[in-house]
Parts: sequence; C-alpha cells; structure tokens
Amino acid sequence: MSSSVEYDVVIVGAGLSSLSAAYEITKKKPEAKLIILEATDYIGGPIKTVKMKGANGDDYWDVGASRIGSKQVEIMNLIGELGLETYEHYDEGKKYWQLPNGSIKSYSGKIPPLPYTSLVDVLRYFNKVDGMQGKVNLEDAKATPKADEWDNMTVDELKTKTLWTQVAKDMVDVLTIMFFGIPPTYLSVMQYAYVIATCGSWNAHIAGDRACKLNLRIKGGTRGLVDRLIEKIGKDKFALNAKVSKINQDGGPNSGATVETEAGKQYTARKVIVAVPVMCNASIKFTPALGSNHLLPSAIAGLFFVITYKKSFWREQGSCAATLNMQGTLEAVQEKTEHPILVVFDHTSANGNPALMGAFGALSLREKTSEERRGMVVKYLREVFQSDEPMDFVDYQDYSWSPCKEIPPEDAFKEERASYVLSSIRKPEGAIHWAGSHTATAWYDCLSGAVQAGQRAGKEVI
Ligand SMILES: Cc1cc2nc3c(=O)[nH]c(=O)nc-3n(C[C@H](O)[C@H](O)[C@H](O)COP(=O)(O)OP(=O)(O)OC[C@H]3O[C@@H](n4cnc5c(N)ncnc54)[C@H](O)[C@@H]3O)c2cc1C
Repeated sequence: MSSSVEYDVVIVGAGLSSLSAAYEITKKKPEAKLIILEATDYIGGPIKTVKMKGANGDDYWDVGASRIGSKQVEIMNLIGELGLETYEHYDEGKKYWQLPNGSIKSYSGKIPPLPYTSLVDVLRYFNKVDGMQGKVNLEDAKATPKADEWDNMTVDELKTKTLWTQVAKDMVDVLTIMFFGIPPTYLSVMQYAYVIATCGSWNAHIAGDRACKLNLRIKGGTRGLVDRLIEKIGKDKFALNAKVSKINQDGGPNSGATVETEAGKQYTARKVIVAVPVMCNASIKFTPALGSNHLLPSAIAGLFFVITYKKSFWREQGSCAATLNMQGTLEAVQEKTEHPILVVFDHTSANGNPALMGAFGALSLREKTSEERRGMVVKYLREVFQSDEPMDFVDYQDYSWSPCKEIPPEDAFKEERASYVLSSIRKPEGAIHWAGSHTATAWYDCLSGAVQAGQRAGKEVI
C-alpha cells in the first residue's frame, strides 16, 4: 500500500543540477518544505573524489567529472561563494595522438600532426561548424533559420558532405564520440550545433586550454562542491534509493503533482523539479503525457581511471601526457576491446602528487575486474611513453558511472525533431520544472551547465 507525504517542492535526482536548484530555494525560501529523491545511494552523479596513496602519502583525486573552465560564470561564482579554490590543469609540452592505424605520434602546440590536405580539410569543417553554431537560437531552437534541414541531417551526413579526406572524417567521428558520447550516425546536426552553441564556439567546446571549458580543477576534488551544497541544503532533505517511476498531475493546472517511487512511496508537491539526465526521462511515466517527449540521444555512461606515481615521468619527458586514441575510440563504438583506453591526461593533485587520469571505451570493460583494467592501463602507458616507468605506479582506482539503466529504444528519438525537443526542454509543464545540465543554455552537459540549469529551475519554482 502506498503512503503519501506533502511538500512544497520535490526534486527528482541528486546530481549537481538538483543540488544547485535546492540551494537556490534554501537560500531564498528557507521555510520551503523540500525533498530530493535520488535513485541510487549516492549524491553527486558522476562527481566522485577518492582517497588514494600518492608520492607523498594519502591525497584526494577526482575519478569522475573533474575539470571546469575559468570562463564558466555560473560554476566559478558558486565555487567562490562556497569558499572553494581552483588550480590550473597542466597542459604544457608534448601531446600524443594515436591514429586509426595504431601508430602513435607526438606533437607540441594545439594542432595534431595531420597530413597537410587533411589539416586544411579539418580546419574548413571547424569553420563551417562555427558558422552553424553561431546561427542557433538557444532560447527557441525551432526558430533557428535552418532548423528543418538540420533536424533531418545527421553529423555523419554533414561530415560526408563537407570533408574529402578519410583522416579528417575519422577525426570528426572521434571528436563526436568523445564529446557527445554517441556516434555521428546517431546525432542530428541540430542537436550538435545547439550543444556547441551553448559553449559559444567550436574551440571552446573541444579545446583544453584557457579559452575553453576544461582549464581548471577544484583543490581537494570536485566532491568538495557537492559536500558544501549538501551542508547548506541539509542532509535530512535527501531520500536515497528512491527511484522515481511516475509523476502524475491529473488534478488540473494549479493542484501540483504526485511523485511516486518504484517502491510505491508517494510525495505530493506544489512544484516538482525533474533534474535527471535527458535519457533517464524515458524511465519515468508522466501522466498526462508531456507535450514533448524530453528525450535526446546523449552519453549514458563513463568509466574513468586514476593512476598515481612517485614521480611525474611524463613531465620529465617534456610532456603533459595528453593522449587521444583515435583507433580505440573508433573501435569502442563497435564494442571492440583490443585498444581499450581512449584518452589520458595529467591529473596531478593540488598538493603536487603526480597522477594520470583517463577513460576506457567499450561498455563491456565494466565486466572485467579493476585489476584487469589496471593491467590494460599500464600496458597502454608503456606503449605511449615508450618506457617501463608506468609499471612503477603507487595506486590505482577506477569508477564506472551510469545515470540510468534503461536506454530508450532508437525509435524513441525518431518520434520528435531535435529542434522541437530543444525548444521545450526547459519549458515548465504544469507543476513540473526542468533542471539537469541538458537544459542549460550555457555549457550543455558540463558541470557549469548543471549549475546554471539548477539555479534557473530553483528561481522558477520560487
Ligand atoms: C565520467 C564523466 C566525466 C565527466 N567529466 C566532466 C568534466 O570534467 N567537466 C565537466 O564540465 N563535465 C563533465 N562531465 C559532465 C558533467 O559531469 C555532467 O554534465 C553533470 O554532472 C550533470 O549533472 P546533472 O545534475 O544534470 O545530472 P547527474 O549528475 O547525472 O545527476 C542526475 C541524478 O539523477 C539520478 N536519477 C536518474 N533517474 C532517476 C529517477 N528516475 N529517480 C531518481 N533519481 C534519478 C541519477 O542517479 C543521478 O544521481 C562528465 C560526465 C561523466 C559521466
């Protein structure tokens, strides 16, 4: 039998966006009766900081979402307000680039060592995409001048139409998989241009330097942000292992909504903020049905690792360790596991303890043991750095994150055009308001986007 409790606001999901909404409400309306329902037993989504052994003793490292950008106003302001500090991500010196044929090349500066014709080709493509993103109407995507054409074209088709050289085509595939978590055949040009537009330019979307979204880290780990928000909101405001399966607002426009968990517990609320990743909306039954299906293809999971060292052998080699594996990335979408590591980068702590971080590809690698995956990491690092020093690690941890288990069937996305979904993605539906980084107009699917969207949804319900 179900029991029902009454609230002013129920927030679904306990990621950074939900916390930002709850903090906004707590600051402005401390008397509001608020509850946050989270499907898992963890608050913070992919934000995870772990204690590991380092060169100078124990220290803390992010093994999930970790990098932010000095130009990201919302997250920078929040970090300042909560008294946290940042430090620069190390990006100096040699980088590595593994081509689809497996050969590894090193380069310095921003431009990878491509043959001249491929380089011209790629730069032409980047210019084209920059022009396209500049025309997106972020407030009302369906009012974008070419919305009809872009809704009906995939990134794969755009790539084939624009590019001549195979290397350039492979590069577009890799960057799409890397930054969107989905292959170009699955992504509409409308969604692609929209996401890039939320970053302001193609360069800001992909680059790892000061111009972009990834040049800083939070001292002590990003978890500090989550912990401080929990303190401000109050630990008693969270219900964990409370997966929401139904939201019912049959009673008319002003009578709020009833939120029901899988276990059958009901919460009635004047306002509901849904702050789950856009793919997870598929697992909630909305009654009456939503005006738009609120579904867009997006990354569903990530598997990251951190490996710590006594000394920074890569910096001694004049490198920042940044490695992009085109071969592994192209194979990962086919679930091949021969070249499992997709990216590597420097992850030295704020205290100077050397470490590397990286990401695995194929989802099936989750079924291996952490020790097996560690073996893959060490093997790959030996190949990249042409040295046995990677074997001499101090500690290793990895973290697998997936916000929802039910992946919507492919035809769920064909029902509605991306520009229509994007136009209604943050429009309230009755008592339901929308947060989550996918509803941000700045830095979509980034930590800063999560903060912006949460703050906006918090203000709406206030
Ligand atoms: C591995 C990884 C690394 C990343 N690295 C970076 C980075 O370095 N920099 C950056 O800017 N961005 C990064 N991102 C992206 C960034 O982390 C996300 O955009 C951001 O955390 C999203 O926050 P959110 O609150 O919108 O959603 P989430 O943090 O995903 O939170 C949503 C919550 O909703 C819960 N939920 C889902 N369904 C239900 C339900 N039915 N009922 C109740 N709860 C539910 C989930 O369990 C989850 O806790 C990374 C993402 C991943 C996966």
